[in-house]
Amino acid sequence: MSEPDLQEKKPLILIVDDEKTLRLVLRHAMEQEGYQVLEVNDGDQCLAVCQQQLPDIILLDAMMPVVDGFTCCAQLHTTFGEQCPPILMITGLNNQESVDRAFEAGATDYITKPIHWAVLRQRVRRLLQTQWAMAQLRRKIEHERLLMAQLEAANRELQRLASLDGLTQIANRRSFDECLQHEWKRLAREKAPLSLILCDIDFFKAYNDTYGHQAGDKCLKEVAHILHQAVRRPADLVARYGGEEFVIILPNTEVKGAVLVAQAIRSKLQAEAIPHAGSQASGCVTLSFGVAGMIPRPGTSPNELIAMADQALYQAKLEGRDRVVCNLVQVSPSIPER
Ligand SMILES: [Mg+2]
Repeated sequence: MSEPDLQEKKPLILIVDDEKTLRLVLRHAMEQEGYQVLEVNDGDQCLAVCQQQLPDIILLDAMMPVVDGFTCCAQLHTTFGEQCPPILMITGLNNQESVDRAFEAGATDYITKPIHWAVLRQRVRRLLQTQWAMAQLRRKIEHERLLMAQLEAANRELQRLASLDGLTQIANRRSFDECLQHEWKRLAREKAPLSLILCDIDFFKAYNDTYGHQAGDKCLKEVAHILHQAVRRPADLVARYGGEEFVIILPNTEVKGAVLVAQAIRSKLQAEAIPHAGSQASGCVTLSFGVAGMIPRPGTSPNELIAMADQALYQAKLEGRDRVVCNLVQVSPSIPER
């Protein structure tokens, strides 16, 4: 149920008292103040009415048959929690014990009978103002919480976009650099191997010249997709390294394992048989692979590993392309594919 807004509508006062005469007098006094009034004659009815419509304030008689004011007050708090309207207890028992009981049961304030009308008017007005200010504050907090959540979502999306290559939707160079740094340090601590596969589409310039740049983009996307499919472990990363060059980070992987991954990609690409009339290596799109791996040494940079993979890739190109070369030792196509 939404919070009352005193600016827009007349506050609703619920009068709960077993004495009919007093109810009538209270109603008259409250209506004169410009409030809407509902009245009931016991605690059960009070709870029933509140289930239908929460008033802005409850004037609650302490002494009533069946369910008395103290019990009713406690039940209202149990039922409505934070939504519970302020409760002004009206008690004929002007003694310390009943005042304590009223506050223990959750009364917001109390007045004693016989009612001092000026005091009642002021108390009701003040409670409504406090209630209104609290509601405003809650709305403001909720609004800010919502804005914060939206901001966080926008930030996450921005970070996601900033880490992706726009064309191929795989990781971009920036996230490759970050990931490699991170894995390098981690595996130096673990003394575990890190492998890299650097690969490059053979005769890609000729592909663009033959089929046009839009087809070239499509080819890049297809190759990226094949690479992405081939790499399944969560810690592995496939990234666009630049132009028609891609790179794969394989943490906790020996060079041998990385070579197998490269071979599998080469086979998959062969099976896809994307026509490439301009290629001097094959009639289809092929990749040259440079694979390198090592156990990172603490305090060093991964540049050495990149240089090794780059040299291997260079060697693969030199030896006729469409092959996997590992640390300058050619392992494909001479070794059997998986
Ligand atoms: Mg009474």
